[in-house]
Order: sequence, then C-alpha cells, then structure tokens
Amino acid sequence: MTLATIVLALLFGLGQDMQDVARNYRVPGLDDRRFNHEQLWNVLAPFVDSPEIEVESIGRSIHGREIRALSFGEGDTRVLLWSQMHGDEATATMALVDITRFLVEAEGDPLRERLRGGLTITMVPMLNPDGAEDFTRRNAIGVDINRDARQLSTPEGRTLKSLRDRIDPQFGFNLHDQGARTLAGEGGGQVAIALLAPAADEARSYGDVRSRARLVAATLVSALEGEIGGHIAKYDDEFAPRAFGDLMQLWGTSTVLIESGAIRGDAQKQALRRINVIGLLSALDAIATGEYSAADPNLYESLPENERIEHDIILRGGTLVFGDDSPFSVDVGLWFDDPVAQTGAHLGDVGDLAETPALESIDATGLWLHVETHGDANGRLERDAKVSVEVRGEDGTVVRCFGVAPE
Ligand SMILES: [Zn+2]
Repeated sequence: MTLATIVLALLFGLGQDMQDVARNYRVPGLDDRRFNHEQLWNVLAPFVDSPEIEVESIGRSIHGREIRALSFGEGDTRVLLWSQMHGDEATATMALVDITRFLVEAEGDPLRERLRGGLTITMVPMLNPDGAEDFTRRNAIGVDINRDARQLSTPEGRTLKSLRDRIDPQFGFNLHDQGARTLAGEGGGQVAIALLAPAADEARSYGDVRSRARLVAATLVSALEGEIGGHIAKYDDEFAPRAFGDLMQLWGTSTVLIESGAIRGDAQKQALRRINVIGLLSALDAIATGEYSAADPNLYESLPENERIEHDIILRGGTLVFGDDSPFSVDVGLWFDDPVAQTGAHLGDVGDLAETPALESIDATGLWLHVETHGDANGRLERDAKVSVEVRGEDGTVVRCFGVAPE
C-alpha cells in the first residue's frame, strides 16, 4: 500500500456500500435510455482520459463506428463484460459508464482497490453502435449479433470473438435487456433481472466452466435479493449453438447472462441501471476475492423460471361494448407497444381469460369496457388491432382509459 492509498482508505473509512456507489458515481447525461454511440463516448470522455483506464479501438461496425474496449486493473483474473450487442438494450451500458467513473474516481476505496489488484476488467459498453443509432435490436444488415457467434459473419461478432481470444478471460458477463412482459414463475412478480449460466452443450451439463458461472450467478442473487427479491428469474438454459453466451462458455470463459427486464414506473430503466451497478460490482468483488466459490449454487437453481406472457393488462369480469353489437360478458386482454409507459394499446385475447396471466389484472365487475379500433381494423375486433378502451362505471363516468382517447 502506498501512503496515498492509506490516506485515501482512511478518508473512505470502511468503504462505501454498493448502494452508495451506485448513487455517488451515477454519471449525468444518460437520463434517457435511448442514446447513440456519439452521446455515449461524449459522456465517457472525462473518465477515459484517466491513466487508470486503457481505451482501445477493437473494431468497427458496418457503418464504420469505432467499437471500443475499456480496461482497468492489474490482477491475474481477467473479466470481460460486453453490453448492447442488441442496439435497443442500453440498461447495462449506462451501468458500465457508472462503474467506469467509480473505477477512475474512487482511488483508495477498498472495493475499488480489491478490483484493481485482483482483476483485469475489460468492458465493451456498446458492441452494436449501428443498432443503437436507430435504437433497434439488429446490426446494419439485419443480423442479430447474438446469433452470429458460430458463423462470425458480422464485424461486430468478429470483434467480440477476437477480443475474447486475445485476452482469454476466465469470466464473462453478457449484458442484455428483455421484454417487460415476463413473470418470475407462474403467478410471480414482474421480472426485474433474469440470470443464466448458459449451457455449453445439448445435455446442459455442468463442467468446471459452467459451474463457476453458476456460482457467480448465485452471488448475483445474494447481492440483489434485498433490492428486487421476488423479481429475479432464471432464464431458459436450452443450449443455443449460435449464441455468444453459450459459446463463450464452450470456449472456456465462465459466462453469466444478465437480462434487465422491467420495474413498474421505471420507463427509462434508471432503477434497473442502479441494480446493474450493484449486481455487477458485487459479482466482480466476489470474483476478485475468490468468495464467489463459496456461493450456494442452489440460490441460482431454485430461482423461478423466466415466464414470458402476452398481456400487460387483463380487464376481468366486465362487459364489452363495441360498435352497435350487443354487450358481451368477456374478459379483455391488452398489450402495449411500451409496457412500462403503457402507450400504444393493442387488443390481446378476448373471452374467458380466467387462467391467462397478465402483468396487471383489473377487476372490471360491474364496469363497461368501451372499445374502439384504430388504424386499418375492418370493423372487427381482431387480435393485435390498435385499440383504445374506456372503462366506464354504471353512471357513464370514465374510470380508466387505455390507448388513444376516443373522440
Ligand atoms: Zn439482447
């Protein structure tokens, strides 16, 4: 320990807890989850100048945008984190920005010093800048980069593979966002975070590499339970022979997939960004100290399954009114273009939906559901049609309203 480190350690006392870190090192300028390559690197500019961080151009996207990696630390254990290989999945990118700031500015903080001494961390905070430019999943020629790990036909996929081959990391974090219409097991809460230690073969066997990934995933469960207990799920572990997470595992890097789902009211995913910071720093710390190896794999194994559902809302027990047709006693399901902001309503299923799950069930007993179609619907209530719904009481007062307000 140098004198400066000792002084700083004293200043920081026992160190900040993860919640403090997520709060204190949050980088301003990324308040909307939609941002592009230029905005990202502008926001990162003050931190990547630091001698503590090495910035490297590791490739270019199809449209020529530079894909960059950030490295920190002097430890023997190498960890690779990559985010936004799907251009519209930006939550973890925001978290990596905050983590970068922490690594640059928190000199003397015990956590930061453990990471620096134990690990060499390499982060690729936006693997698909062309997709991010349009806030769309795929790259500029329509390839899903996460299905290109076997064929490596895209420059983005090749960039990630060659980086992996060069640094040969023992651990990896594959950082994504998933849809908001997902429950933690049947009847469970909306999934905030889904975790996966991907399989490396059809048999989904647990060799050393995957077993270590499972322990890291278990560490994440411990770190996040206090924050989002009941909202953590286990992602489907069927072997995906084209996907990066699965093949990283096969190539020898113990890899954990983290899918940021949704938290009600968190339309810009800023709460999930914070959750990512807490989870990732906790996992990195456990890897740096070796404590991850004492985790209980059952914490991961016993997570409820990540269950995709079709409906954001089901109005149950009400009476449907549509055009000149007679009223009908049916349940009405809806889904939204943006399930968190509840904008852009579409019709889901209609009928007896007693067993059909939804993120939110509304008891519409005694209420009237006035439905109108919009766009090119041909006078029928068709599945997925753009609709607006007014929920009215006996006396005609509007109780709730979804979709475009009818004229
Ligand atoms: Zn994704």
